[in-house]
Amino acid sequence: METTHIYPTEKLQKPAIISVLLFLFSFSLAQNKSNNISSVSDLIELKGFTQNYYYSSGHEERALKLAKLMEDAGRFYKEELGFTPEIKLFILAPQHWKSYAALPLHDVYGFPHNIDRVRLAVAAEDNDFWRSFLKNPGQLPNEMKRRVTAAYGTSAGDYSMEPFFDLLAIHEMGHSYTSQAGLKTHRYWMEELFVNIMLHTYIAEKKKNLLPALETFPDMVVNAGSTAYRYTSLADFEKLYQTMGMGPENYGWYQSMLHSQAKNIYNAGGKNVMKKLWKALKNNQNDMTDEEFAAMLSKEVHPSVAKVYLNWNRVK
Ligand SMILES: [Zn+2]
Repeated sequence: METTHIYPTEKLQKPAIISVLLFLFSFSLAQNKSNNISSVSDLIELKGFTQNYYYSSGHEERALKLAKLMEDAGRFYKEELGFTPEIKLFILAPQHWKSYAALPLHDVYGFPHNIDRVRLAVAAEDNDFWRSFLKNPGQLPNEMKRRVTAAYGTSAGDYSMEPFFDLLAIHEMGHSYTSQAGLKTHRYWMEELFVNIMLHTYIAEKKKNLLPALETFPDMVVNAGSTAYRYTSLADFEKLYQTMGMGPENYGWYQSMLHSQAKNIYNAGGKNVMKKLWKALKNNQNDMTDEEFAAMLSKEVHPSVAKVYLNWNRVK
């Protein structure tokens, strides 16, 4: 499977590339021609919104919930960043997944992803993929068990990761902002960090009641430490990102770290960091060494953003 990461400058020359980007498994894949999404006739369109939302029959409630969340986030980003990308969100039942999802994810129902910078695919219902992230909640340390139960516990006494995966639709939408606005994110870790900063800033500013759903899962992974993971450096992340050569679980640790850093950055500098970082990534289109990149981030954005790179290897 050939893989390529997309930078905005490349997007005009390489239309046949899918960017598959998820909280846990974010990587880009060359589009296979058989992955041809040409019709939405088997889905229902949700009317009355500024973006396009299509859902599988029987899932109007979830479609409405996600559409309202996306629209609200879109208004916030328009106000803060002065930009609105084109978005088409597909909310899919298992029987429709294969026709819309990016080809390499045909068999991974529930894996939210940004198909081609405009189209996003998410699951309409709970699924094994979501459940796989919370295998033994009973074995967590007490305080974390309390938080996990508060964030993901259901009224039936079970757990569902749906509250977290709902928010990842905004993460995926974030990739449409960076790509359609022509930002140069310079490093893969920055592409992921930036959309996590977008997500965290919106939730913290406008949906505080959803912060536990956003923060608990990454905190659970980060608090468990990194000794179980083979790769922990940003250099390895850059090297292995395109092929996801670090494996899904190890990638999950990296993403959890980046979510956690996004939280720290927001807490250190507030919502203006998102705006300044947006401008800096728009204005600085020249190639930079790691050191130059960190210096630029510190000077033009906020020292907390540069620290993600400068302090990464001290975090274990
Ligand atoms: Zn992503």
